[in-house]
Amino acid sequence: MSNEIYEFEYEKDETFRDTIGTITEDGKRNFIYPKKPSGYFYEKRKLLSYFLLAFLFAAPFIKINGNQFLMFNVLERHYSIFGLPFYPQDFHLFVLSMIIGVVGLALFTVAFGRIFCGWICPQTIFLEMVFRRIEFAIEGDRGAQMRLDKQEWNAEKIRKRLLKWFIFFVVSFTTANVFLAYLIGSDQLLLMISEGPLNHLSNFIGLLIFTSVFYFIFAWFREQVCIIACPYGRLQGVLLDNKSINVAYDFVRGEGKTGRGKMIKTEDRVASGKGDCIDCKQCIHVCPTGIDIRNGTQLECVNCTACIDECDTIMEKVGLPKGLIRYASEDEIEKNEKFKFTTRMKGYGAVLTILLGILIGLLFLRTDVETTVLRLPGQLFEHKGDKISNVYTFKVVNKRASDLKDISFKLAEPKGELIMVGNKNFDVKQEGLAKGTFFVEIHPAFLHGDKIEIIIDVYSGKEKIETTKTNFMGPRSFN
Ligand code: SF4
Ligand code: SF4
Repeated sequence: MSNEIYEFEYEKDETFRDTIGTITEDGKRNFIYPKKPSGYFYEKRKLLSYFLLAFLFAAPFIKINGNQFLMFNVLERHYSIFGLPFYPQDFHLFVLSMIIGVVGLALFTVAFGRIFCGWICPQTIFLEMVFRRIEFAIEGDRGAQMRLDKQEWNAEKIRKRLLKWFIFFVVSFTTANVFLAYLIGSDQLLLMISEGPLNHLSNFIGLLIFTSVFYFIFAWFREQVCIIACPYGRLQGVLLDNKSINVAYDFVRGEGKTGRGKMIKTEDRVASGKGDCIDCKQCIHVCPTGIDIRNGTQLECVNCTACIDECDTIMEKVGLPKGLIRYASEDEIEKNEKFKFTTRMKGYGAVLTILLGILIGLLFLRTDVETTVLRLPGQLFEHKGDKISNVYTFKVVNKRASDLKDISFKLAEPKGELIMVGNKNFDVKQEGLAKGTFFVEIHPAFLHGDKIEIIIDVYSGKEKIETTKTNFMGPRSFN
């Protein structure tokens, strides 16, 4: 019987490593040349990446009620999320959102592993869907790239490399501009473009730094961000368990009774006891982090699904069922257990629901104008004629994208008088604040205790925009 071997590239078996996939045993960089992925998941990821990239590039240039759709101006502590402006006064909302983000991500990871990394993370999207595709278009697939890397610096290599580096630079520079629009605001960015970078030197230096960082990351550092630098990747070890869904190799099916083995056309594979893995190593060649998924879940795996697509193609070619590498939990593979919500997932889910409820409640209570009125520290009260007087300091924060005009205070309860120190009416600039002092004078007949609550209405012109409360102190004898 002639043994016909399928025309896959076979390599000598490697023993399992104790170093990360991108660093050689002697500590050098092991540059990865992944094969160009193709298949069902890759097509779906491409579609999602178009949508996410369009959103990322458009969001800082969309305005809602004059507010940028998304802005994170850390230096001036001014944020805009979905067109809602947030200021340092809203810091508690920011902290709560961060906690919700962390708990949500933890819950998601416990249940569905690193799906975020493969489908949504900007690092993966830029690397796999932008820079890598430019590289494939200019330098060709894995084999051609490896040959180009080894060959002499001839005209072809210089032309291809210069073209690639130039396009990488253009993409990095464009992305840095958008990144800057998130940080300083798109208006500032457009001003810098129209007035010239020399008039906005600090922003321009920032732009050059971001361009260099993006270029460095996507041209050279690449997958090492996920493996070495990303804290989320490092958390996988504590978040994942054998019930979490991951990109996984079905070792029960793949190894069979006698282990994986090459495909021999004339062999009865079932009778031989061989598993379905034909050891073609295409799943390794396509992996952008250079690992062998058949060794189990590893810290380098970003769940990009390239190995699923590749293995499915191989299975189709050799007439075996697809899904040897697929989304599955270890328990599903080993014990044939279907996915279910574990106690840990339910616990995270409950905490997340409570936190989300609190956040939504706080967002509903949040106002565009925030007035704080406090009694002047160290002052009790004064007798002024037949009235009792208290002195207050106030602060009005305008979170709107327009000026607040003609602001005034009125004592709503109890009956009395509110006397401003300085101007009776004042304006508060957009996203600005105004501070000042006023007196409240109340006749003792309206005091029913030595400390009562008073209500002050805040007006802009004739429109009542807010109501605030504070305390008023009087002498004990009025009890
Ligand atoms: S798991 Fe699939 S792609 Fe990987 S070596 Fe086996 S058959 Fe080939
Ligand atoms: S092992 Fe598979 S899913 Fe994980 S990074 Fe490599 S190709 Fe992507």
